[in-house]
Amino acid sequence: MSFFSNVELVPGDPILGLTEAYNADPRGTKVNLGVGIYYDEQGRIPLLEAVRQVEQSLAAAAKPRGYLPIDGLPAYTQATRELLFGKDSPLLAAGRVATTQTVGGSGALRVGAELLRKALPHATLALSNPSWENHRAVFGAAGFEIVDYTYFDAARHGLDFDGMLADLDKLQPGTTVLLHACCHNPTGADLTVDQWQQVAALLKERQLFPFIDMAYQGFDKGIAEDAVAIRLLVEAGIDSFVVASSYSKSFSLYGERVGALSVVAASADQAKAVQSQVKRIIRTIYSSPSTHGAALVAGVLTNPELRALWETELTGMRERIHALREGLVAKLAALGHPEYEFIRRQAGMFSYSGLSRAQVDRLRDEFGIYAVGTGRICVAALNQENLDYVAQAVATVSR
Ligand code: PMP
Repeated sequence: MSFFSNVELVPGDPILGLTEAYNADPRGTKVNLGVGIYYDEQGRIPLLEAVRQVEQSLAAAAKPRGYLPIDGLPAYTQATRELLFGKDSPLLAAGRVATTQTVGGSGALRVGAELLRKALPHATLALSNPSWENHRAVFGAAGFEIVDYTYFDAARHGLDFDGMLADLDKLQPGTTVLLHACCHNPTGADLTVDQWQQVAALLKERQLFPFIDMAYQGFDKGIAEDAVAIRLLVEAGIDSFVVASSYSKSFSLYGERVGALSVVAASADQAKAVQSQVKRIIRTIYSSPSTHGAALVAGVLTNPELRALWETELTGMRERIHALREGLVAKLAALGHPEYEFIRRQAGMFSYSGLSRAQVDRLRDEFGIYAVGTGRICVAALNQENLDYVAQAVATVSR
């Protein structure tokens, strides 16, 4: 008997498995719509020009690599707070937001979950049905019990807002409610400003704890517009909540693992105490975050010219996604399938296309087009070269 003889093999992540199958597919026309990555018109992950410029000056400066503080690079956390809450937010002036650099948005979710498991009256998380699959896994691993709330109406291809409110209303006070700030993954169905106001009022009244996941700031309407949920929670008088944010998409820095956990507390003293707890958690996991990605983001956000350049590049990514949605809808309509109109209304990189598992299988087998089994497609993996082919294939399996 050896020590690991009882260790079971964990099945691979189905979405990553999809990319492996795609890579092994010999067909020249193949398209991978299963990914969660923004690709440019040439089908590449962009290296933003603003990032490239900071990177060059960092290389030229050739600085030594000491440790960062446990909670990260101060210029990075400060810039992140301002991006999420707005530079003039009274919360920032009052010292009520404790922001920590984390290992990607995923790290922010996990560190946030560890904090809340101890701080809140009970460790229950309410997740939208559906949600990003890793939410369940991350909070589950941190000891949370997970419940679902109604979110998506498959028949209408949009938000089931009444169902959502009714389910949130039934939750026990003190339950953590995970909300996607914008560009809901996987459905692309977001709340309107008016709906956010109603949700915020309900969270406050029912004493539920908001946990905002902000992985796509700037990918739908704009930097400030996509953060409206945060502003509305504050306006509703909710004094404590959490935001997990990520620059993976908005800076196209996936592998640099740049994220942040921002905890809003009722007072500056509480924020300080929370920050000390967050540092304790991080100290016992990875001790301190890495320097390079944070230096890139801070370098861009603290330099007015580079920041303006980044905003232009981000706008370019956002507008390209919108144009691809329009293009796909128009081509499908021209092929006799106007029923895909809803794709235009969805936000962010993803669309819940409504394609069934059987249709997804046909796309893969007959056309070499890879989508997630739930019908989720990554709109940002389309381009002018593959758009006709994908539209034709979707039309064929939709007959
Ligand atoms: N939340 C959501 C909704 C996401 O889609 C993702 C990334 N796919 C993350 C969090 C995690 O982001 P990161 O890659 O920065 O860990």
